[in-house]
Amino acid sequence: MKKVILVRYGEIILKGLNRPVFEEKLMGNIRKSLYGFGKINVIRSQARIYIEPFEEAFDFEGAVARLIKVFGIVSVSIVFKIPTEFEDIKQLSLELAKKQLQLRNISGAAENEQGIVSFKVEAKRGQKNFPMQSPEICMELGGYVLENLPALRVDVHKPDFKIYVEVRESTYMYCDIIPSNGGLPIGTNGRAMLLLSGGIDSPVAGWMMAKRGMEIEAVHFYSYPYTSERAKDKVIALARIMARYCYHINLHIVPFTEIQLEINEKCPEDQLTIIMRRAMMIISERIAVKNGAQALITGESLGQVASQTIQSLAVTNAVVQMPVFRPLIGMDKNEVIDIARKIDTFETSILPYEDCCTVFVAKHPKTKPKLDEILKLEAAFSLDEMIEKAIKDTESMTITE
Ligand code: ATP
Ligand code: MG
Repeated sequence: MKKVILVRYGEIILKGLNRPVFEEKLMGNIRKSLYGFGKINVIRSQARIYIEPFEEAFDFEGAVARLIKVFGIVSVSIVFKIPTEFEDIKQLSLELAKKQLQLRNISGAAENEQGIVSFKVEAKRGQKNFPMQSPEICMELGGYVLENLPALRVDVHKPDFKIYVEVRESTYMYCDIIPSNGGLPIGTNGRAMLLLSGGIDSPVAGWMMAKRGMEIEAVHFYSYPYTSERAKDKVIALARIMARYCYHINLHIVPFTEIQLEINEKCPEDQLTIIMRRAMMIISERIAVKNGAQALITGESLGQVASQTIQSLAVTNAVVQMPVFRPLIGMDKNEVIDIARKIDTFETSILPYEDCCTVFVAKHPKTKPKLDEILKLEAAFSLDEMIEKAIKDTESMTITE
């Protein structure tokens, strides 16, 4: 009997002729995420991936914790792989049921424990020449387990646990299915530059696009001394959490003080934010091009603040050529917070910090800026040299978990 990990993937199955490309990428990402766990075999078979460790001491729980962060995976199970022999299957069913009772601190033998825990056997027959059909396998195994463990009863609708039996060339048996995030393997959908602030939204936005298979790089605008060293450390910490899902993140930290001071001096207060956001977009796009990224990602959500109205977003967009992805555009703050908690960025995001956006903030920013007015304002001074200098002085680093 061997313990292996069964990996299920979803959407990739729909990929038709491209499917092998997606599967190869997923297998590569699985290997990458289990780097350091010891020697493993990663095997693809019948739209499943099996991970077979070479060593007995393999850390299965630790590996599962990693795998549920790999995009493209829908769920994983730690399974027992045994020869397809009915006697062996019966014995293992009983073992698995006993273990489930133990987990519930029930001995299984005592009179007063009669029928208190319910179960169900679910069988799948992938090996068509196996002499029994699925319903018959379920009945036989269910009956055998019941005979031996009076604490159990069968409930086909809402059982306390299930015993899954997959009869293929070998037979795979398990009780737990651990859900993962789905999505597509990172590296199958290009690369994008995330505008990463220290707030709640942008890490979630980056995570959502990584989930669709994008490699993520990040750019952060930093206005020292108006924003502190701590604000920078916080962004690095957020990138590090994101790297759990993205393997590594190249983070570009752009010195933004000079540009902000210039905009602050030259522009009317109510138009500051939008002009500053346009400068951010220009710089982000250039850094993206330099690093082979094909799109920008922001954490904007429609109507959240003055710079996120439809008019503001249009004016911000008008300054770049690249597609700008805003995966949070239709989400409420609460929905974003739910994801931030799930991916573990929330606690870091809410640490107190100053963002360069909030340092030079207008009391009443325009909610309906007009592009021609903004262009006129921008024509009165030039940021070109400062932008060049900011890009030249950008500090780039690779963040890993
Ligand atoms: P977040 O929670 O991501 O900070 P927000 O709701 O506070 O977003 P804004 O501060 O208006 O909204 O920023 C909108 C988007 O602009 C952010 O989601 C992020 O993508 C980008 N952004 C804002 N500040 C910075 C910064 N200092 N560096 C990089 N990107 C930034
Ligand atoms: Mg912010």
